[in-house]
Amino acid sequence: MFEFVCQQQCRHSHARAGLFHTPHGSVATPRFMPVGTLANVKTLTPQHLEGAGAQMVLANTYHLHLQPGEEIVAAAGGLHRFMGWSGPILTDSGGFQVFSLSEMRQISDAGVVFRSPHDGQMIELSPERAIRIQEQLGADVIMAFDECPPYPASRAVVTQATQRTLHWLERCIAAKQRPDQALFGIVQGGVYGDIRRECATAMLAYDLPGYAIGGVSVGEPTTAMHEIVAVTAPLLPTHKPRYLMGVGTHLEMLRAIAAGVDLFDCVIPTRLARHGCAIVQGNRWNLKNARFRRDYAPLDPTCPCYTCGTFSRAYLSHLVRAKELLAYTLLSIHNVTELIGFTQAARQAILEDHFPKFAAEWEQRLCTSSHDD
Ligand SMILES: [Zn+2]
Repeated sequence: MFEFVCQQQCRHSHARAGLFHTPHGSVATPRFMPVGTLANVKTLTPQHLEGAGAQMVLANTYHLHLQPGEEIVAAAGGLHRFMGWSGPILTDSGGFQVFSLSEMRQISDAGVVFRSPHDGQMIELSPERAIRIQEQLGADVIMAFDECPPYPASRAVVTQATQRTLHWLERCIAAKQRPDQALFGIVQGGVYGDIRRECATAMLAYDLPGYAIGGVSVGEPTTAMHEIVAVTAPLLPTHKPRYLMGVGTHLEMLRAIAAGVDLFDCVIPTRLARHGCAIVQGNRWNLKNARFRRDYAPLDPTCPCYTCGTFSRAYLSHLVRAKELLAYTLLSIHNVTELIGFTQAARQAILEDHFPKFAAEWEQRLCTSSHDD
């Protein structure tokens, strides 16, 4: 039901182009996956997502458990039907959110107890519970429940979190029942290369259908993240998809693709849109900036999206200044299209055997451009 086929391996880097087959369709990699935390990608319909080139989207276990609850999603026939998205879906396990968002949490080997931000009730999340919730939600790819240490954290703290992640993975595998879902393991280890290596090596023994690199983009310097990805990704099996969690800027994705990563997700395109920002060729533009008020050109004349094909920068600037809701939809359409398009272009470059040239050009462009927000 799940298979990753490597179509082309770059001869000068670890970059590869592949096809990840799932019960709800195939994902051509490398690819950016938009995040639909509460079973919707904010301000976008499934039609918008399809138009933007989305193939696989994310939903969030922690948030959906709190609201509306997995029983309601299951009674609707599962996430695909509930949110009207017939393509592949991935749910994260909730681990990251419990550790980063919730207050009053108690962590033990059994699991995590935290206070619901909705009604103050104490909620317990364990490897078994996270799998059960994800089985009720019904995504194609489900994630192991892990402990994501903060940054900075000492070696001792990271070692303990990594060991717990490995024990919890074993319990996730034992708890999993549905054959139509693929369980991905999450490599932890903070910024410590040797702990990452040990964690990845230990996880390979389980022969999982896919592997993720977690615990990055949690406040560490960008250079540390690039190093961790460069160390970890090549350790993961070549015939399984590799997913870098929570990463979605051009430069981060470019370097991770070179390290052999296939899948990415990040809330950045829709979050920036809600702040009135567009991502244009890797640059961030604040549409409130006076220079856009009488600029009647499209956001990006080379972009295939509906927003760029229909509206001007001046119109978008007006909507943003007036706080019109349409601004957020139009900017989200463009930003999601831009990020997916970037990964599609990287894929094309790998397939056509000129990824090093593509990467060098983008490196230069991204490292010399300035952000205006
Ligand atoms: Zn566009």
